[in-house]
Amino acid sequence: MDEQKMNCADCGQEFSFTPNPNFTRKYCPACGQKRKDSWKQKQNQTLPTANTQQASQPQASIKEYHLTDEAIRSNALSSAVKFNRNENISIDGILVLAKTFEKFIRNL
Ligand SMILES: [Zn+2]
Repeated sequence: MDEQKMNCADCGQEFSFTPNPNFTRKYCPACGQKRKDSWKQKQNQTLPTANTQQASQPQASIKEYHLTDEAIRSNALSSAVKFNRNENISIDGILVLAKTFEKFIRNL
């Protein structure tokens, strides 16, 4: 493997590295590790918040498994409408999406 040299996008220091076709290197090993660590820290910080948000929802999602067909259709339709709120879509398109959502919700 041929080593290459480049300047770190963070600290600007030149470093050599072995190119990896699956990974574009921008940072020296030290800065790369720092970024990895702070990314991990971020993940750990956001996880508790996500868990708290999910913790308040299980009751609602359990209920959805016992909805009537009409309620499922209505939910599927409103989901489809919300999903496409930024797009111009025909009624036929919404119905196709509603059917897809219904399949998804009923796990068919
Ligand atoms: Zn660096």
